[in-house]
Amino acid sequence: MKPPRLLLVIPCYNEEAILHHTFATLREYYTGIMASGLIAPDSKLCFVNDGSRDRTWEIIEELGQKDPVVIGVKLSRNFGHQSAIMAGLEHHVDDFDCFITIDADLQDDIHAITAMLERHREGARIVYGVRNDRSSDSRFKRATAEGFYRVMQKMGVPVVFNHADFRLMDRRVLQELGNFREVNLFLRGVVPLIGFQSEKVFYKRLERLAGETKYPLHKMVLFAWNGITSFSTFPMRLVLYFGFINFLVALLIVTYILTSYLFGYTVPGWTSTLLPVTFFSGSNMVALGLIGEYIGKIYEEVKARPRYIIEKVIHD
Ligand code: UDP
Ligand code: MG
Repeated sequence: MKPPRLLLVIPCYNEEAILHHTFATLREYYTGIMASGLIAPDSKLCFVNDGSRDRTWEIIEELGQKDPVVIGVKLSRNFGHQSAIMAGLEHHVDDFDCFITIDADLQDDIHAITAMLERHREGARIVYGVRNDRSSDSRFKRATAEGFYRVMQKMGVPVVFNHADFRLMDRRVLQELGNFREVNLFLRGVVPLIGFQSEKVFYKRLERLAGETKYPLHKMVLFAWNGITSFSTFPMRLVLYFGFINFLVALLIVTYILTSYLFGYTVPGWTSTLLPVTFFSGSNMVALGLIGEYIGKIYEEVKARPRYIIEKVIHD
């Protein structure tokens, strides 16, 4: 069997501190797996510049001039991690046989790529990279990540536990992925929906060598919230349950008021007026806010704006 043409897609946002190192490491690894016949000699590395404000794009251009293995894709502004990945993938869907996405900081062990390619050769169309050792992450990151995957699974989002965006897909899978048109693309949830034969490979998550995380806490929370509300209507169901409980409580209160009235026990009640009013208007507000959240999502999807805009491609 002929070795597949591989495209490695690397989203980069303000990664000037690490890009040279990342390129050197990947280049060496590529040379090795090309020589051993695991991938075709015309396989490429695709760096997607997601609107960085530092010298990331200049570095990608320099690398591209020196080495034809490099493809550079420049987005017109910062579109976010998921869109940057999609830009690199979709732009090259017809030119390669299989695709692997990996973060620029190489926290995901590149040696797992060999195992991914082997699973692919055995027939898997999707191979998920799964972190089975996160001891290099802070305790806080591990706890929040763990909570994230558990909550997602509980709410019926089909995420693979401890799998981030380090994965292999073949061309067929990518073509199908193109049919998922949502603007708020949450790849970890969408890819498992595509089906086909899939496998997992396990690796140890390493430390970020340079630069800092582009996912501070507020972005992580937003990402998780996006993942949940794009995939699950469970929070709305929760509001319904909550409303139902409120309704029962209201019935009790009404019964209490009526009985007091019938027995002539008429104390002008501050508390019994104020309490329910506060309580119910509060819970109404919660419900409205949540419904608003979903309507906001619908609004964004209905506009169907492009997920990304490519300004320039080098070495295509
Ligand atoms: N990234 C991106 N656009 C963004 C934010 C991040 O392309 O708006 C890239 C970033 O350059 C990196 C990857 O997404 O290659 C993951 O980011 P990071 O390593 O900072 O996240 P963490 O590993 O800390 O969750
Ligand atoms: Mg990282």
